[in-house]
Amino acid sequence: MADRKSKPKDVPTKGPAPATAKAPSIVMVNTGDGKGKSTAAFGTAMRAAARGWKVCVIQFVKSGKWKVGEEKAAKSLGIEWLTIGDGFTWDSKDMDRTEAVARHAWSVSKEKIQSGQYGLVVLDEITYPMNWGWIPISEVVDVIRNRPPSVNVIATGRDAPAELVDVADTVTEMRKVKHAFDRGVRAIRGIDF
Ligand code: ATP
Ligand code: MG
Repeated sequence: MADRKSKPKDVPTKGPAPATAKAPSIVMVNTGDGKGKSTAAFGTAMRAAARGWKVCVIQFVKSGKWKVGEEKAAKSLGIEWLTIGDGFTWDSKDMDRTEAVARHAWSVSKEKIQSGQYGLVVLDEITYPMNWGWIPISEVVDVIRNRPPSVNVIATGRDAPAELVDVADTVTEMRKVKHAFDRGVRAIRGIDF
């Protein structure tokens, strides 16, 4: 018979405490400098749609010319997909307009969240306009905190503001170990968008 004491130290002997609370909804944040923040959020959107939830994705930064592949797949599942972003800021010839578009994207997002009609609302790349001072962090956090109880929210983007992290239940930081871009590989259609 095996000696119990000889068990390696890192073998778990106890499972996690049983989860007892069923939250009506949660807030998730995918942040960090590694790849996968948006794809994880879109994957969850597909998962939610497959369970029959009403889902809305709002893209804050990407423009129509940078349509991601998921948009096509998501729309076929009945996910509402709004790309109200105005392209990458460093492409922008008119900062004021870009800012106005981001503000508009936020006002639409706020309506979607407050309507209580969605099981999941994804705010993709919302951390950027928040960090640039284009949309007030306190307002975003208030709307999320006071949302109808059935609405789950996912926010993505690098450098999630501390207030957003505070209001979230699940926060994941993607950490870059390597990225193909570092050795000059440009974005690949089908992998990166
Ligand atoms: P994805 O959309 O692939 O999930 P992401 O949402 O985590 O990526 P973003 O910061 O939104 O990352 O950047 C989107 C684009 O930039 C994608 O084409 C992605 O491959 C690329 N990217 C992500 N992380 C890095 C990185 N650390 N260095 C260079 N490019 C990156
Ligand atoms: Mg992203």
